Order: sequence, then C-alpha cells, then structure tokens
Amino acid sequence: MSFYINFTPDLIVESPGRINLIGEHTDYNLGYVLPTAIDKKITLKLRKNNSADCNVYSLDNEKNITFSLNNISPSTESWENYILGVLHEIQQLTDKLEGFDCVLSSTLPIGSGLSSSAALECGLAFGLNELFDLGLSKIQIVHLSRAAEHNYVGTKCGIMDQYASVMSKSGYVIKLDCRSLASEYIPLHLGDYKLLLLNTKISHSLADSEYNTRLAECSTGVEAIKTLNPSVVSLRDVDASMLEAVKDTITATVFDRCAYIIEENERVLHASEALTQGDLTSFGTLMYGSHDGLQHKYEVSCPELDFMVAYSRAKDFILGSRMMGGGFGGCTINLIHKDAIEDYISEIASAYKSKFNIELDAYIAMPAHGTMLKTL
Ligand code: ADP
Ligand code: MG
Repeated sequence: MSFYINFTPDLIVESPGRINLIGEHTDYNLGYVLPTAIDKKITLKLRKNNSADCNVYSLDNEKNITFSLNNISPSTESWENYILGVLHEIQQLTDKLEGFDCVLSSTLPIGSGLSSSAALECGLAFGLNELFDLGLSKIQIVHLSRAAEHNYVGTKCGIMDQYASVMSKSGYVIKLDCRSLASEYIPLHLGDYKLLLLNTKISHSLADSEYNTRLAECSTGVEAIKTLNPSVVSLRDVDASMLEAVKDTITATVFDRCAYIIEENERVLHASEALTQGDLTSFGTLMYGSHDGLQHKYEVSCPELDFMVAYSRAKDFILGSRMMGGGFGGCTINLIHKDAIEDYISEIASAYKSKFNIELDAYIAMPAHGTMLKTL
C-alpha cells in the first residue's frame, strides 16, 4: 500500500508563499525589496521512517519520489529537484539527516509568481530541521533553500523569496536590503484598502531564458561602470550619474536595464517611507512607476499583465497596480478600496475573458507569518 494512505505525521509544517509590494528584479542586483508571506501556503506532513530512504508525495501533482539518502543527485523531473536540492544542501551542513516520509499539499497557485518554489524548499528544510533536530538557524534555512534552487533547479534567483517565506511576521512587510540582509519590519496599515492579486493564468515560456539574459545584461552594465568606479560590485552601488557616464560604451538595452534597477531601488525606499507615513496615494503611484519600468525598460512584462495594469489605472478606487514576480505571466498586485473589490473582479474578469479568452483568478492577499510548525 502507498505510504501516504492513512498517513500519521510526527509533525506538520506550514510554509507560505509571498507577495512583493515593490522592488522587482532588485534582489539579485543586491538592492531593496518589500515582501511579506501570505496566507496561501504549502502544508508538509512529515514522519521519521527509521531507514535511509525518503518518500515524498505531492497531492498537487499526484507524484511520488523515492530515493536513498546515500545517493542524492539531480533528477530529470523538475519538481523533484526542489526536494533533492534541499536534501543535498542539508547534507553539506550536517550528517544528522535520516530517512523520512512526507506528504505535501498546497493552496498556492503553482508557477504564478507567489513563490510556491521557495515555500516548498523552505518548508521541507524547516520540517527536517525540526524532525531530526539538525540545529539549523532560520537564516541557514533561507540560504540552503536558495542554494537548492541555484544548484539543483538551475534558477539563479535572489534571496527575496526564501527570506520572505521564512522570516515574515504577521501584519508586517519586510524592507529587506538584499546585500547586507538588514531588515526592517514595517507594519502594513492599509486602512480601507486591500491587496488584490489578479492571476493572468499565463506562464510564457520566455521566462527562464529572459531571466538569464537580464542577469547577463545587468552584469555587463556593472562591468562597464567598474571601469570608472572600481569599487562597484552590483547595480546596488550605482547611481544615475555613474550610469550616464558610461552610456556611450554600452548598448541602449543594457542602459535601460540598469536604469530600471537604479530607479526601482529608489522607488522601494520612497515606498517604504510612504507606507510608514500612511501615504497610500504616493505608494500606489510608485507601484505604477514600477510597472512602467518593468514594461518598457526591463521588458519582462507581457500583454496580459499590461492589459490588467492599464485596466486598473483607469479606476479611481485603485491607487496602484503592477506586475509582480519574475514576469511574462503570473499575477498583478493591486491596491484597491475594499468596497470596490467584488464589482471590480467581475468587471475585469469579463474584460480579460473577452480579450484573451482566459478566466482569471483573483485573491485577496493577507500578510502572514513565515514558515512554522502547526500544532498536531
Ligand atoms: P512559483 O515559485 O512562482 O510558484 P516556480 O516556477 O519558481 O513558480 O516554481 C514552481 C515549481 O515548484 C513547480 O513547477 C513545481 O516543480 C514546484 N512545486 C511548487 N509547489 C509544488 C507542489 N505543491 N507540489 C509539487 N511541486 C511543486
Ligand atoms: Mg519560484
């Protein structure tokens, strides 16, 4: 009989997805972001099995993976690499890992920019840390989960997703400096406004290749700027005048990519101040500015996202809207008056359906606590 039937766990972990209010593609440029975990999450049930074998079953894709701890290597099945990668990274830190069974299920839409991938990595690492008393700190869990995504999945992501999934506190957003990992928890007081996520239900295949291209373009920009400013390490260290000084030595495309990152970092800092002061109007304007940059300068948006943001822009009960996540699909995040939500969802759903023949999904994002144990 399959191990996951009538499964009695030793412990249960809840590992959330995340939203990011502003600061897109800035994390891997060592800049600023403003994320928080949300109330959509992956639940992992875990138990020891007193062997060297591991079994993991996902109720979401109805797939099972079985492997020995003595022989961990990357798989050709993409989802398995999130699991194997975490185990590999834990094995670099400790030899206390033993065989286990795990059943997981998720309320997170997968591949929609809400970071189901980090929720999975961090949830598994957190659960195994508890189950086997590995003695890993939260920040070690963040780093090893990100390393799993780099080394086994092959996505050279920044630190934001894993950090937000593990370190969030309910009711706050994190202003995170992705270079120093200095964090400031800002209370999220939105008054009569809510954060509405609209899921395009699109995932353009361009995303992976374009992500790698953006990494390379940012690095080309940094190399050019270094010729005049040798101390520069990342675009985080660059201001508009330093970029302007090398304009003639880089392509217009590289210039635009770098300009977007410099401007987006400034927007995050201004947005954090606006949020602290309760100035939601200014905050919303910065969200629109972020989308404009992502659409025109960083070029990671797509017609579906642009349609949704343009639609929101015409409504006075929406203060701000932008694409969220890596781009080329996924969700927009909208700062919308609570009384207008229901009607707006119907209106934009029908407009989106007429234009793209896709039924969108809509969720209100509630800021939530990071990865934690659930009482049995
Ligand atoms: P996002 O992190 O925005 O949801 P990614 O493409 O980074 O999108 O990660 C999605 C991948 O993570 C899925 O394709 C799958 O491989 C893995 N994954 C996430 N959640 C689950 C789950 N509940 N069951 C199995 N695999 C999952
Ligand atoms: Mg992801």
